[in-house]
Amino acid sequence: MSLLDTKQAPKREDRLHPCISYGGTVCGLRKKLGGGCMMQDGEREFAQGSLCLLLPALAIINSMPNNVTLMHAAVGCGSCLHSQNGSHRGAYTARFGKTEDAMWVSTALSETDVINGGETKLRSAILEVDRLYRPKTITVVTGCVPGIIGDDVDGLIDDLKENVTATIVPVHCEGFKTKIWATAYDAVYHGIGRTLIDDPEEWDRKKEVLPDDAGDFQFEYMKKRTVNLFNISSMSKIDEDELTRLLNSLDLDVNIFPLYTDTEQMWRVKYAALSISTCPTHDDYFLKFLEEKYHIPYLLQHMPIGIANTGDWIRLAAKHFGKEEAAERLIARETADLDRALVPYREFFAGKTAFVSAGEYRALATSQLLHELGFKIIGVRAFHHDEFAEHEYEKLEQIAGDIPFNVANMQPFEEANMLKRLNPDLFLGHSQSNATAAKMGIPTHTVFSSSLPYIGYRGAFELARRVYKQLINPVFGKTYFKLPYKESWYKENPFKYIREAVE
Ligand code: SF4
Repeated sequence: MSLLDTKQAPKREDRLHPCISYGGTVCGLRKKLGGGCMMQDGEREFAQGSLCLLLPALAIINSMPNNVTLMHAAVGCGSCLHSQNGSHRGAYTARFGKTEDAMWVSTALSETDVINGGETKLRSAILEVDRLYRPKTITVVTGCVPGIIGDDVDGLIDDLKENVTATIVPVHCEGFKTKIWATAYDAVYHGIGRTLIDDPEEWDRKKEVLPDDAGDFQFEYMKKRTVNLFNISSMSKIDEDELTRLLNSLDLDVNIFPLYTDTEQMWRVKYAALSISTCPTHDDYFLKFLEEKYHIPYLLQHMPIGIANTGDWIRLAAKHFGKEEAAERLIARETADLDRALVPYREFFAGKTAFVSAGEYRALATSQLLHELGFKIIGVRAFHHDEFAEHEYEKLEQIAGDIPFNVANMQPFEEANMLKRLNPDLFLGHSQSNATAAKMGIPTHTVFSSSLPYIGYRGAFELARRVYKQLINPVFGKTYFKLPYKESWYKENPFKYIREAVE
């Protein structure tokens, strides 16, 4: 049985034993991870909020060209789509040279639907969307309500398949099922893998009628030098171009998947010599599926953010194709150019302190990059922890020592307390979570944007350039609003409310 044979992806709590509650230091965390044991997740006695997996799932789904997203949920679910649309418009324009809005509708389930069931509404919504918009795909995204009342969404979609021209893609995102919102990546890959990667029908017919030895040879040749490069919202278009440039330098072709990939071309992901992840936290589920079902080996190590990390990422890819020498020449050339360009920035950053907050792998890789630029890393917060980044903690300890470390799905009150104590010169976090630091008067910069470069050698230089501009005149980024916490909270242990699991 393949990973994708079930109707839904398992939640990450069951699949990976992740953790969302840790407060302490890097060494403390490494000690817990030591001995090859899984880290047991604790609980918070008090939590300010969390994030529903719909948010990352919708950001990916809405990138699919010619798609309508059909929310089968209460009307408020997916309200993040309004703010996400701005990023989508920019990312779409960068790739296709014209601007388009994401298209979404909702069955807006009500109290009455909770009693009567939502299937009738979903059926007529699918038929209407297909008739009105004629999209290539209709992605049915389920929220909590259909999960609670037991709507047979997959059965209904099977039933309707022959009556609509669009391919219907079910993506199960019932928020109540998981606290680990990275489950969203698995849910989206699951839906795509089950419905959108079959070979094109005309391709099969052509193979039956016309023997084409030259075409077959060309196809095999192409396959041997193609790598799947996964971007499920960890890279901007500029980052995709940077990694494509580096892999092309090794004479490899690149197939970027699945962000902004034409759904009619998604089948190509089955015909590659290697799959490479850009963020191991995001991609393991689908990479394992491709290996298991289509025998495509994969690389799930290193995030190419940071100079040394990018080199290691290139080396791994090159080794698979026996191109180690070419990789070393490429790395030497690129790092020499970059080192020259970074001289004035490194002088300016030397000794300045930084706090990084992001998804686990990104936070750890970005800390490496800031260290390479001259910053002293004094604290890190990761949204969750799972097994993929474990070797990265050793690297963090080497550059930063035993610094404070927090694993938290949101919980800005813990972060505010840490920042008050640490008072860094720079806070690098996601745009939505930079507010806490900004309100404390700490200069901030966004750790990811769908329109800015962060990855590879270009990303290292561009980040240095942007942060320099931010720090040379920090007044622009400073705001002095008051956070809502009492002074007494700042005197408490920031991790006071975390109850560790008894192991
Ligand atoms: S947690 Fe449930 S109800 Fe809330 S936004 Fe997510 S899917 Fe909707």
